[in-house]
Amino acid sequence: MEKRVGRRLVLFPLPVQGHINPMLELAHLLYSKGFSITIIQSDFNSLNPSKYPNFTFHSLFYGFSLADLKVEDFPSLAILFNNRIKNPFKECLAKLVRDASESEEPIACLISDALYYFTQSVANSLQLPRIALRTGGSSSTLAYVAFPSLKEKGYLPTPGSQFDVEEAVAEVPPLRVKDLPLINTKHPDKFYEVICNLVNETMVSSGVIFNTFEELESLALAKLRQQFSIPIFSIGPFHKYFPSGSGSSNSLVTPDETCIPWLDKQEPKSVVYVSFGSLAALAEIEMLEIAWGLANSNHPFLWVVRPGMIGGSEWLEGLPSGFVENLGGRGHIVKWAPQPQVLAHPAVGAFWTHCGWNSTVESICEGVPMICMPRFTDQLVNARYVSHVWKIGLQLEKGSERGEIERTIRKLLEENEGKEIRERSSSLKEKAKLCLKQGGSSYHSLEALVAHILSLES
Ligand code: UDP
Repeated sequence: MEKRVGRRLVLFPLPVQGHINPMLELAHLLYSKGFSITIIQSDFNSLNPSKYPNFTFHSLFYGFSLADLKVEDFPSLAILFNNRIKNPFKECLAKLVRDASESEEPIACLISDALYYFTQSVANSLQLPRIALRTGGSSSTLAYVAFPSLKEKGYLPTPGSQFDVEEAVAEVPPLRVKDLPLINTKHPDKFYEVICNLVNETMVSSGVIFNTFEELESLALAKLRQQFSIPIFSIGPFHKYFPSGSGSSNSLVTPDETCIPWLDKQEPKSVVYVSFGSLAALAEIEMLEIAWGLANSNHPFLWVVRPGMIGGSEWLEGLPSGFVENLGGRGHIVKWAPQPQVLAHPAVGAFWTHCGWNSTVESICEGVPMICMPRFTDQLVNARYVSHVWKIGLQLEKGSERGEIERTIRKLLEENEGKEIRERSSSLKEKAKLCLKQGGSSYHSLEALVAHILSLES
């Protein structure tokens, strides 16, 4: 632990799992660099402060009812988060700034989720610098930055019938029309608005932090550095700074630990781990295709099915009766897994994922090749990079269709094309490890971030 630096940081995570994990990992990291940490959170998806004795917590009252929250309609949710919380957040931050000015420990800056774009004007009004944490990758952020020019060309908010979905979009290589982050979005106009706000308010912040590393996204980072006049820090993978891995410890749901003894019984690199993150929903017909694709592949599988994620079902009612039992122990279904530990287990040979950024990074860190089934927003971009730039996975181009699923699993785990993908995944894992070591790219960027924070004048 480095010596305390006498400065406090106020962190403000967006209250959904894929945004809480990287913000809390960043909090641990900056605490280890000597900063004191205050977390402002909400009464929605709140963390238990007793699990974080080193941090000070303040809670805001959103007053959401569950009926307000249709998480699969992410643009509306993001707008709701930004509008509903502005006043209580401003009052809370103003009080913290006032109290700190009378203490020995001034607040150096606010670090808020880039999707909480309203926080920039609040920070400005209190003359407090703000750094944005972008919890997605820099390649998808580059696509977001291109939104206005994509709109001008007619691709957004929804591409007209003049475009073939397979057509390459010259402005954002290697994306095709069907990889643009607005495809499949329920309210493309709202999503366009959210993303433009995110980009514009990040551009006028005092810096932006990415959970990525140079060796993975050097091109996108270089392009962003040309377009943003603020410092950009690529200091990931966050969850790998601490050997025990802090990923699951920030879980809003208690992970089902039965996965690990079940994995212990499987052959090395034989298991397909299937999880579509914390938000994605599936139709019942998709669930059946997935189930039969997995069963027909003849590989063991560990599948996360969150209660309520299948439309019209509480949990597994949509599966044929006795589905798991009839597989003779080859399948294991849980409601929530300790994902970082699962991916690190030697029995796991492939990760069938929705390509949320955290899942993508966690898979890269363990050298696990991916089967990509993106659902919406940046997941579409991440999947394209996994399959066509880094070439560490295969994309299910038909979505969920049992024949394609079975063929893809076999290709990835058994065939020659899969062997090359597996080898590239292993070598990227090594790069993800090296970048954190002394002299590595993320190590340097983290040092630069600490120096930058200490240089900020509030
Ligand atoms: N996760 C987990 N257990 C599960 C499913 C997901 O711990 O059963 C974690 C996963 O490790 C990741 C986060 O939840 O850190 C999901 O974030 P991601 O960006 O991949 O997807 P999102 O949920 O935002 O769509």
